[in-house]
Amino acid sequence: MPAGTLDAIAAKVGAGRRLDRDDGIRLYEEADLAGIRRLADEAAERKNGKTVTYVVNRHINYSNLCILSCFFCAFSKKRGEAGAYELSLDEIRERAREAAAAGATEIHLVGGLHPDLPYEYYPELLRMLSREFPGLALKAFTAVELDHFARLRGVPVAEVIRELREAGLAFVPGGGAEVLSDRVWKKLFRGKIPPRRWLEIHREIHRAGLRSNATLLFGHIETVEEKVDHLLRIRALQDETGGFVSFIPLRFHPQNTVLAHLPLAGRDAVLREIAVARLLLDNVRHVKAYWVMTGLETARLALTGGADDLDGTVVEERITHMAGAETPEHLTEAEIRDLIRGEGKIPRRR
Ligand code: SF4
Repeated sequence: MPAGTLDAIAAKVGAGRRLDRDDGIRLYEEADLAGIRRLADEAAERKNGKTVTYVVNRHINYSNLCILSCFFCAFSKKRGEAGAYELSLDEIRERAREAAAAGATEIHLVGGLHPDLPYEYYPELLRMLSREFPGLALKAFTAVELDHFARLRGVPVAEVIRELREAGLAFVPGGGAEVLSDRVWKKLFRGKIPPRRWLEIHREIHRAGLRSNATLLFGHIETVEEKVDHLLRIRALQDETGGFVSFIPLRFHPQNTVLAHLPLAGRDAVLREIAVARLLLDNVRHVKAYWVMTGLETARLALTGGADDLDGTVVEERITHMAGAETPEHLTEAEIRDLIRGEGKIPRRR
């Protein structure tokens, strides 16, 4: 790293000045990791003090049937293929009941783009869950699913968002952004909504008064410049709407995907993503260490390098585990609180 690069960036951050594209590229390519982790920790503490939040939640992946075949996906299956599944309404209800009994306050509900379920299924599912489990906030359906529903229904996505909100949708997860780059989109997930559409849908979500998260899937064919541009596009939309609550860097798990020849990004790469995100996204409140994808040890370290949220006591996560993740599928609340305290931070349930 050229002498003074990190100092210059530190001076900018300290003076409350916004980092630009060149700074972002330098943070990825030149700056020493320990240095940027320190800066990111300071930035995180300026926003959230020493508090690290988590949620007691349950993931329900209602079906892995999907009409698309994105190259990085190990989750989706075609009907009749080994491993294909779809949960019945009763099975979803049972999982929600277990979550409520275990003290959960949130359900994270996402799935593939189902080949034949009618649009009406989705608001009905939300209505059933919100009627029977009023204590569970429904975080559901990525922008990719919302786009699919709008096509099924034949109306603008804003209309679908309004209807789902009335049916109980409380929050929209950040998945489906992958890398907001037309090059990566064309190479890896062309059938799926393009970057501009992902941003447009999140703009509509925020306009409807709902809030959402944003993600970046890193560790495959993306370049540093593409990652920086991704972060800057999220930052620009956040300037406009203020609707993003958390940013979540997602580590790509190559196993069982078309890209199985690629190596899994290592611990330092994950920690760098978290730190750079914290420093560039000066207008997003939280940066999350999603331990299911990073592994527990890396998530623990991330808490002193820019992350201030640990996601939750996820139960039965399927998407990353079908791509070879070896992390546990469940952490208890006590384990999460101990882990946070161990890093000198203060755990707070959200
Ligand atoms: S990433 Fe999503 S849209 Fe793409 S194949 Fe997998 S489940 Fe379907």
